[in-house]
Amino acid sequence: MAHTPSSGTDHAYGFGTRAIHAGAQPDPVTGARATPIHQTTSFVFDDAEHASSLFNLQTFGNVYSRISNPTVAVLEERIANLEGGRAALACASGMAAQMAALLAILKTGDHIVAASTLYGGTVGQLGVGFSRLGIETTCVDPADPENFARAMRPNTRAVYGETIGNPLVNVLDIAAIAEVAHAHGVPLVIDNTVASPYLCNPLQFGADIVVHSATKYIGGHGTTMGGVVVEGGKFPWDNGKFPEMVEPSRAYHGVKFYETFGDFGYTMKARMEVNRTFGGVLSPLNAWLLLQGAETLHLRMREHCRNALQVAQFLQGHPKVRWVNYPGLPGSPHHALAHKQFRAVDGAPGASGILTFGIEGGAAAGEKFIDACEFLSHLANIGDAKTLVIHPASTTHRQLNDEELARAGVSADMVRLSVGVEDIDDILWDIDQALARATA
Ligand SMILES: *Cc1c(COP(=O)(O)O)cnc(C)c1O
Repeated sequence: MAHTPSSGTDHAYGFGTRAIHAGAQPDPVTGARATPIHQTTSFVFDDAEHASSLFNLQTFGNVYSRISNPTVAVLEERIANLEGGRAALACASGMAAQMAALLAILKTGDHIVAASTLYGGTVGQLGVGFSRLGIETTCVDPADPENFARAMRPNTRAVYGETIGNPLVNVLDIAAIAEVAHAHGVPLVIDNTVASPYLCNPLQFGADIVVHSATKYIGGHGTTMGGVVVEGGKFPWDNGKFPEMVEPSRAYHGVKFYETFGDFGYTMKARMEVNRTFGGVLSPLNAWLLLQGAETLHLRMREHCRNALQVAQFLQGHPKVRWVNYPGLPGSPHHALAHKQFRAVDGAPGASGILTFGIEGGAAAGEKFIDACEFLSHLANIGDAKTLVIHPASTTHRQLNDEELARAGVSADMVRLSVGVEDIDDILWDIDQALARATA
């Protein structure tokens, strides 16, 4: 259970090589080249002394798969490596990962400052779920980092945002917001789901913790739920604001997480006090499926970016399209930040596969467009190899009134595309014929 990125020599491996190899090695018992699926709940102890040292966290090893599992550990090491992090914890879903990331450091009476442009599920988790636990969240317009500073309180213990917001497709200025968080002695937690570790490593820009819905681009095929929390390893947890990171844990044998485990103490606390206690762990089979996805992440992300940019350019020139929002377009208000923070693909900032556009004819035309698509799939997901399409105002955001829709940045005519990796000619053909039928 060594949660260190594997390096071996001082040769600096590229992203694609690490996406295929990091954290894995041929099975020492059987020689199996692919990572085995360790579909077991428990692990046999060598002897009584080994058992007690494992329970005391003096020896690393596996006890029970709610705490750790060798297949899951390969995924944890792989994503930690791809994010340039120190350690990672895999969880049952993206929502479980966010919960673990925050509950590892927050308790009743604490406060979060978050971007207002978050994934809908996260708005619910913070605004309803955490608020029931007595953890309050203030949402601020992330366009101006000063808004985060203004919302900070003495009991603020985390700042939260998404690299690329969904469905606004806005880009966060991670470095500026990290500076605000650090000036107040609290960590910046970034949901990097939409960018994926290939396009952006938020830790490089000063974030302290990264969370992923691995369900999306990491898995990449719309088959498997999973989430990951990655720790950067640089946050000073002994700054007086996080006594539970420093003092003996009531939840685990009196261990002092920061003193004992140092730069992966936060991950150990999330593992032992959240996943072990609340149980939202990733299954070995799902970890294995997500590892298959991770091996082609770099190839797929490049193609997602190329295809999405072509779709955005096509829509921009289409007479039945009112507006297009894609950070990869040079005219986008988010283009400069995309350029600064995202890996280039074919010389342009790789801005992932999500874009939105407004169709002539408003909500009615939006619904007709979706029904007119031949192979674009109408469903509520992103980050699939398949191109996905949804009309938020009639589906994911249906309960909101006009004012709430406006605040969420969802207009009645908005169509969201998660551009897949099919042949671009076919994607453009389907969009073109659906636009023609929807606006006839
Ligand atoms: C899907 C998603 C989540 C939630 O992840 P699940 O795996 O569905 O639980 C969180 N954040 C973002 C940006 C997402 O797209």
